Amino acid sequence: MSTRFKNFINGRWDTGVTTGTSENPSDLGQPVGDYARADAHQTEMAIRAAADAAPQWALSTPQRRFDALDQIGAEILARKDELGELLAREEGKTLPEAVGEAARAGNIFKFFAGEALRGGGEKLASVRPGVEVDITREPVGVVGIIAPWNFPLAIPAWKIAPALAHGNTVVFKPAELVPGCAWALADIISRAGLPAGAFNLVNGSGRQVGQAILDSELVDAVSFTGSQATGAAVLAATSKRGAKVQLEMGGKNPLVVLADADLDLAVDCALQGAFFSTGQRCTASSRLIVEAAVHDAFVAKLRERTRALKVGHALDKGTQIGPVASRAQLEQNQSYLEIGRQEGAEHLLGGEQLERPTMGHYMSPALLLAKPEHRIAREEIFGPVAVVLKADGYEHALALANDTPFGLCAGICTTSLKHATHFKRHAKVGMVMVNLPTAGVDFHVPFGGRKSSSHGPREQGRYAAEFYTTVKTAYTFT
Ligand code: NAP
Repeated sequence: MSTRFKNFINGRWDTGVTTGTSENPSDLGQPVGDYARADAHQTEMAIRAAADAAPQWALSTPQRRFDALDQIGAEILARKDELGELLAREEGKTLPEAVGEAARAGNIFKFFAGEALRGGGEKLASVRPGVEVDITREPVGVVGIIAPWNFPLAIPAWKIAPALAHGNTVVFKPAELVPGCAWALADIISRAGLPAGAFNLVNGSGRQVGQAILDSELVDAVSFTGSQATGAAVLAATSKRGAKVQLEMGGKNPLVVLADADLDLAVDCALQGAFFSTGQRCTASSRLIVEAAVHDAFVAKLRERTRALKVGHALDKGTQIGPVASRAQLEQNQSYLEIGRQEGAEHLLGGEQLERPTMGHYMSPALLLAKPEHRIAREEIFGPVAVVLKADGYEHALALANDTPFGLCAGICTTSLKHATHFKRHAKVGMVMVNLPTAGVDFHVPFGGRKSSSHGPREQGRYAAEFYTTVKTAYTFT
């Protein structure tokens, strides 16, 4: 069988030095396809191509960049069902979730097409007579994009689209679990009239392809999304050579439920935030902090709703929770359940590996009662596992919510304007939700966190310009 998912380097489709197989976590007997794995040398060729194309693309007109991105966005939107199906097969999200993600990727390209036109700058009067000051934004140059597997269309889109819109060239390394989605995106981008080398796709391991991007003096900026451990290595390598860097990493996001909350709404938020997309979202509501007065009632309702969730093949109608994306992730989930048991957490339900008509990484959503000091309440598990912590009142709940090394997203369910307002102000995170799940964000506004969750400027929306441009201040004496 010839390799389906190739690399795209300097405007040409290329094989790799080895071949890998993209698995289907819903049906291990039906792999998605073979993909070309590059090495460091091929990555360097892609970086060289991006560097050569950078001056031309930096000087391209806003109209040209708008047209290219608008065309990419339009094609993604027109083919969202087909792309969603590929995504569901490769990553294991349910079909509706996957189609939604494809639509989101299309909308992101459309949004950044507009950003190419909006550009803009500032003109100020100088403090000196006869002098004018212009402040403009310029492209950074070559951007290395290193992406995770859990949003294999949307995350690459929210990095590639602003990079190209602001006049940068791109070397994109997807996670090895999702080469099919990366290829589909690259295929659409390859037909958008960009100069050869402006966009490159290089599949392969983080150790080889990723490291080559981090180490190359020709890569001016690196945008990374992934785990905290890899993020630390990315920061160390890029800081050593002074490259611009942006890191989006994990989360252990609290959802606070106060005694005055609409309990059914709170249970909906918890269920959706904790378990949908198989809990594989950096914004997942994995810590449910519940005020004592409603703790038992909340837990009883959530337990009942969790038990009723339908776990199954990502493409099956009626599946609410798809499989875990990989064997490694399934083993990590299981090992955390064991850690929880050893720590003395009360395991309420779930966590079993399930058998379905096709062999896949199926696991039932798990719910545990834990203590704030438990590892399962502090470390990111990245699966369908949620812990419930009891709080004495609002102040205690807020303190628990902030008692984490992470700071991506926090939510509160309450009918009190006073507590909602106070929480929005005092939650030490980048994103706050009131009466909404912590996961699920808009595509046109900033995304990112604080503390160990993020480093560098925000992604998405108009704020993406902070990372993908550099500011120039020009003085003119007339
Ligand atoms: P990961 O293991 O850290 O991998 C992320 C990317 O880094 C992959 O493309 C990986 O390549 C690559 N990589 C690995 N080692 C590298 C190295 N030494 N140098 C350069 N690149 C390297 O993370 P993941 O398992 O794919 O994704 C899950 C994590 O992403 C979770 O922690 C989740 O919270 C986080 N996440 C955060 C956000 C956010 O915006 N805050 C959004 C989504 C996900 P290979 O996979 O090919 O090895």
